[in-house]
Amino acid sequence: MEEKVVPRKPKSFFKWRYLRYLSQAIFAGSVVFLSWRHLAFATKMAGPIDTYCPFGGFVTIPKLAMTGEFVRRTSDSNIVLLVGLIIAVLVFGGAFCGWACPLGGVFEWLYRLRLKLFKKRIELPRKLHNALRWLRYVVLALILAMTIIKADLWFKAYDPYSILFTWGHAADIVGIIILVVLLLGSLFVERFFCLYLCPLGGLIHPFAKVSATGIRRYEDICINCGICDKVCPYRIPVSKQVKIDRGSCIECMNCVEECPAPGSLEFTIGYGGGK
Ligand code: SF4
Ligand code: SF4
Repeated sequence: MEEKVVPRKPKSFFKWRYLRYLSQAIFAGSVVFLSWRHLAFATKMAGPIDTYCPFGGFVTIPKLAMTGEFVRRTSDSNIVLLVGLIIAVLVFGGAFCGWACPLGGVFEWLYRLRLKLFKKRIELPRKLHNALRWLRYVVLALILAMTIIKADLWFKAYDPYSILFTWGHAADIVGIIILVVLLLGSLFVERFFCLYLCPLGGLIHPFAKVSATGIRRYEDICINCGICDKVCPYRIPVSKQVKIDRGSCIECMNCVEECPAPGSLEFTIGYGGGK
C-alpha cells in the first residue's frame, strides 16, 4: 500500500489548551469569589454557591412542578442556569465540561500536574471503562429520588463541588472522605469523577449528542497514527470515527491540536453529528 505523504504541520504559538485553561481558571475563580462572598457576608445579595449550580435546577423540578415550591437551598437562579446550560449544550455540546466546569477543571489540573511529575498514563481496561460510564446515570437517579423523598438538597453533604468550593465549611465527614477519594482518583485516572460519576455529565449527555458543533475526521487526510485516541481525555476512539461522538466529546481540542496531519481533524458546525 502506498504511504500517504503528510505535510508538516506549521508551528503555532496559539494553543487551544492555554485558552481552555484560562477559561477554566476564570470560571473556578468566579466560584471561589462567590463562595467567599457568601461565607464572609451571608446576605440575600450573596447567596450560597448551591444557587449557582444548574444541577440544583434539575433536582428541584419535581417539587416545583408538584407544589410550586423550590427544594430548600435552591432558587430561580438554578432554573435559569439549567435552561442556559441546556441551550449552551445544544449549541456547543460537552464544551461546558471542558471549558467551564470548575470541578472538572480542578480534577484535570491535578491529573496534568501528576503527569508532569510522573509521565505514566493510567487507563482502566476498555470494558471496565465502558461499564463504569453507566454509573453516572445511577448517581443521577439516586440523587433525584433522594431529593424528592427528603425534599432537601440531600446530596449537598456529599457533593464534591459544594465541599471543595466552600473549603469544607459545614461538610459531613463522609463528604470529606468522598472528596479526598475523588481528588486522589483524579491524580491517577484523567477526569475520574467526570467520566464515571458526575450526574450533571449524565444529564447533559443526550443534549450534547444532538449538539450543533463537534469534531470531524477526514478519512482521506488521516494517516491513522492513533495520536488522537491517546490524547482524548474521554477515551473516544477518534481515529475510528468520522463524526466524533458528540455525546462524549468535551471539545477540549486536544485531538485537533495534536494531530500531525493538517486538516484531518476539524471543529465543525452543523447538526447531524454524533454516532
Ligand atoms: S491524530 Fe488521529 S486523525 Fe490525526 S492523523 Fe492521527 S489517527 Fe488520523
Ligand atoms: S474527541 Fe477531541 S475534542 Fe473531543 S474530548 Fe476527545 S480529544 Fe477532546
